[in-house]
Amino acid sequence: MLLQAVTCNRHRGDLARPLQFRSKAANIPGHLFPGFKTPDSVWKNDNSMSAASLIAGLEHIVRENEPLAPYTSLGIGGVAEFFAEPTTVEELTELVRRFGAANQPMRLLGGGSNVLVRDEGVPGLVVHLGAPEFCQLEAVGNQLHAGGGARLSHFISTAVREGMAGPEQLVGIPGTIGGALHANTGAGGFDIGSWLVRAEVLTRTGERLIRERNELVFSYRASSLNELVILRATFGFERESPSELTRRMQKNWIVRRASQPSLGEPAAYVFKDHGGESAASLIERAGLKGTQVGEVEVLDRNCNYFVAKAGASSADFLRLVDLVRRQVEDRLDIKLALALQVW
Ligand SMILES: Cc1cc2nc3c(=O)[nH]c(=O)nc-3n(C[C@H](O)[C@H](O)[C@H](O)COP(=O)(O)OP(=O)(O)OC[C@H]3O[C@@H](n4cnc5c(N)ncnc54)[C@H](O)[C@@H]3O)c2cc1C
Repeated sequence: MLLQAVTCNRHRGDLARPLQFRSKAANIPGHLFPGFKTPDSVWKNDNSMSAASLIAGLEHIVRENEPLAPYTSLGIGGVAEFFAEPTTVEELTELVRRFGAANQPMRLLGGGSNVLVRDEGVPGLVVHLGAPEFCQLEAVGNQLHAGGGARLSHFISTAVREGMAGPEQLVGIPGTIGGALHANTGAGGFDIGSWLVRAEVLTRTGERLIRERNELVFSYRASSLNELVILRATFGFERESPSELTRRMQKNWIVRRASQPSLGEPAAYVFKDHGGESAASLIERAGLKGTQVGEVEVLDRNCNYFVAKAGASSADFLRLVDLVRRQVEDRLDIKLALALQVW
């Protein structure tokens, strides 16, 4: 048995962030964010309830107008109106109940590797599961229990060490268990949903439920596990020797690194594959390799990654998405679907 409680889900920006980071944007008047009311006006107008009373007693885990760029792989985009990092399931449940009752938007942020935050920012609550309570990994027999905020990389290395076969195929894919289950993340014909036994979720009304494998549907980059929060999940595996799994993981790592952006390069994996052909190959066939809009560029060595260079905006990113989608449709008569979530 192995128990690992790690401070998970750190992002490239985290190392530079002071502990009690306060956003400069917190002092920017609401009118500078189009369509963005100040929190107090939102609560008072719509709910006869002030923002202060909504987060009363939870101020230690909630920040207002928090920039989301440091929490995403792309490193661009605006602020979250409210940003919470709960330390326990009870705190998380309380927050969800309050924001749910006030009918406010709520979103869950995992590793931020599959999210583009619009420049205008995100209204309502964004929850980030970075606390150790949400990131535990525990191997018991043929099963691996994982917190929704546990990093996929920790999950993979634990499985390999414990002789559990399958996850070594996903090495090099960034993100968390929650984000991976939400999108049924995978590569080379292996998807994370295929190993799931059950998941514990929290609904938008603050109810905790168990979802068993036989009531869930996983398909290509899609899953019916769509409650607000995936709290934890249990996976079951076939056994293989750790040395054989390590060998396979290293081989996969080398192959994947060769086709991915450089480590730390702000990038996103943009479209789903189509009809058995990779999105990268379709974009290349449409002659769009290296295409650039503003400071966002289609990566040469794998056209399904768009890289956000210094000074890039989410508006640039969305313009490039639009341009690539239209050109692929015009030239190949194929409609590409987004893998990336746009907030
Ligand atoms: C360099 C690079 C390579 C990639 N390669 C691949 C690849 O080979 N295959 C592939 O499939 N994907 C790939 N991706 C996409 C991405 O890594 C995966 O989709 C990943 O699983 C997203 O996890 P995340 O924790 O970062 O999710 P986020 O980006 O934080 O969130 C994505 C979605 O999941 C939801 N979510 C996150 N956590 C939870 C939770 N605990 N409960 C409920 N919902 C949650 C969010 O609300 C959001 O809707 C790649 C991305 C990058 C940047």
